[in-house]
Formats: sequence, C-alpha cells, structure tokens
Amino acid sequence: MDPMGDFVFRCSECRQEYAEDPALLVCPTCSARQGPGGSTRGVLEVELADLPGRWPDHGPSDSRFLAEFLPVRGPGSFPTYPAGDTPLLPSPRLATRLGVDSLWIKDDTRNPSGSTKDRASLLVAAKAREYGLETIAAASTGNAGTALAAVGAAAGLQTVVFVPATAPEAKLVQMLSYGARVVPVDGTYDEAFELCLAACRQFGWYNRNTAFNPFTIEGKKTAALEIARTMDPVTPDVVVVPVGDGVILAGVAKGFVDLEAAGLTDRVPRLVAVQPEGSAAIAHAWAVGSDDATPVSGAHSVADSLTVEAPRNARLCLRQVRDSGGGAVTVSDADILAAIPTLASHCGVFAEPAAAATVAGLEAALDAGLVERNESVVLLVTGTGLKDVPAAARAVRRPEPVEPSLERVALRLGLQA
Ligand SMILES: [Zn+2]
Repeated sequence: MDPMGDFVFRCSECRQEYAEDPALLVCPTCSARQGPGGSTRGVLEVELADLPGRWPDHGPSDSRFLAEFLPVRGPGSFPTYPAGDTPLLPSPRLATRLGVDSLWIKDDTRNPSGSTKDRASLLVAAKAREYGLETIAAASTGNAGTALAAVGAAAGLQTVVFVPATAPEAKLVQMLSYGARVVPVDGTYDEAFELCLAACRQFGWYNRNTAFNPFTIEGKKTAALEIARTMDPVTPDVVVVPVGDGVILAGVAKGFVDLEAAGLTDRVPRLVAVQPEGSAAIAHAWAVGSDDATPVSGAHSVADSLTVEAPRNARLCLRQVRDSGGGAVTVSDADILAAIPTLASHCGVFAEPAAAATVAGLEAALDAGLVERNESVVLLVTGTGLKDVPAAARAVRRPEPVEPSLERVALRLGLQA
C-alpha cells in the first residue's frame, strides 16, 4: 500500500507526469511557451495514488480527514488553523425568490479570514512546512493574501503579499494585522502577479500565486468534499462559482472528479462560472468555444476579487466547465450590488460583491437555460461582506436618524403610535 499522501503532478496541458519537487510549480515543457502575462502555461494537477473508498470517520475540520484527500505526508503537516468545514445552508426563502425548487448556500464567509482562500492557503502552508521553507509570497486581489497572512501567522511562517494598492481597505488592514509584509503595488493585479513571480525567483521565497502553485487548486477542492459529504448520497445538479482567475472553480471541479474516481459520488455536478461584465475573459472564451481566454485590457468591476485582465487558470477552468457540461454567464455591477441585500435578507449571509455575484449569476443562468428550475443548485458564497462594506453600502438606503421619541419612530416606520 502506498504511504499516505503519495502523489504525482500531471500537466493539465501535455499530460506529462512529474514526481513531487518543492521547486516544481509548473510544467517545464509547457511553461517554456509562457508569454508575458496571460494564462499560466503548464498548470500542474495533483494525482493522488490513493483516494479513500469511503467517507472518513472524522469530519472535514479534522486534519485526519484532510490528510486522506490532500497530498500531505500526514495530518501533522497542517498548522492548527480551522479553514473550511463551513455550513451548507438550505435556503428555501431565496429559492422561492429566485424561482427554483432546491437551493443551498455553501457559506464560505465563515472561514477564519472570511473567504474560501483559507482552504488553499492551509494546504500551501502545510507543504511549506514539509519542505522546510520559511517564507511564502503571493500576489492577490486581497483575499488570497489575507488568507495566506492568517495561516502564516498560525503556522509561524513569514508571508509577503503583493496586492493592488486599490484593494479594499478591510483586506489591507486585515493582512497587515496578521503580520504579513504587504507590498501595495501601484498597478493592476496582473502587474502584482508578475512582480511576485520575479521576487520569488530573486529572493528564494515559496510562491503561492494562484494557478501557479498547484496546491492552490488542490487546496480548494475541500469545498466540494464538504458539499458532497453533507448532501450524500445526493449529488447536486449544479454548483455556481464566482470566477476571476478560475482557480476556485478548478478546485471545486477537482474535488468532485476525485470523489467520482473514489466511488464516493456518482457524477460531477455541472459547474456554472459567473464573471462580472467588465472582467469576463473566461465567460467570453466559453461563449465562442475557445480553449483559452483573450485578456481583457482595463478589466474593472465592483467585485474586486474577480477583476483580472488575464485569468491565470483560464485553460484549465474552461476545460472543467466543459467537461462538467456546465457553462458561463456574465452579470452587471448593478446586479452584483443588488444581490448583496437579496442574499443577506433571504438567508442571513452577508457577502462581498464577488460572492453575491453567484445569486445574480444563477438568475442569468436560469434565463440562459443553463439551469432548470427543478434542479438542485449550490451557490458557493466565497467571501464575507465585511471585507468591502463601502460596496455593500451602495446597495442599501441608510435611514436618517430620528429624534428619540416613540412618535417619531411610529412616523418613520409607518405605524400607529
Ligand atoms: Zn506540460
């Protein structure tokens, strides 16, 4: 029997197999074709030698559960950091509002740093510990850097974060508070990404750039494991995922593919990618049947987490959307903002714009015929609204103060005093 966590890397493009090597992040052959920027060439996928043939006795918050499904030497590789094991909330009121039969919210706002990115950072930190590496660096629109800073603090690892200087205040303050060395870049996320790659080469840091470090995709698959385990023996028909670089979707897809291979589920749900109209390189590529995305110069959206010019994981993300039989939709900034109070007031989940975009995305997918109203749907809500309160504030009307009298209150609320 293979030891726990035994795995190889498989290139997502040329299918070449590679043995584990701390210095190996992308396929050497395919990455030789890498242009400046653009989709990462030669993204590596993890192939585990053994997957558990039945659900482990321990729950997903237990490092023994994680070690059964993730490429680590053992449970002891994980720092003590409670990423994942977030609730899957049945959401009948939102289902009624959107006109669908069965709807669940995978509430990843409950991760310790407030976003899905904690899942990837936990695995990357575990691997850095195994490799004896002390400093991890990442480029981030905000959440990945914050998650890395938080896990690094728990694990006693140094972290360096390259982030667009325009990132929401809460994300910057959060990562600084966790003790990361933060480099606000006077430029785009894409420029921060390239700068981080160069800095890691120069200074010998371990790189956690999303869709570059293969463990970022692998780490996010735990969201799929938890959805499947909670709904077992039912598999949802559709999972709706917000897409920037396309790594969360790739991770969710990988989780369901692994579960099907292990015989724990009967199929992979259809994956629906949601992108903002102003940052929709992957959705455009899907619409025209292309296997790679054309960068969107000057990409912009109120959903900062989804704002990328050249999605790094476009190729793999597009393949997984197609393999699942899913699709992609775009949503306007106005619809994204309106979705924040819709989600919050129908299920008690306060989401940042990128995460609320799944609500608008489901509506768009229903209109486009990508999802039927009688299907079971999971929305992956990836980050808390507390990360970008100014954006959420644009979608609600703040009442003027009243004088402290019952009469005034009655007048304000339209009630009889
Ligand atoms: Zn390759």
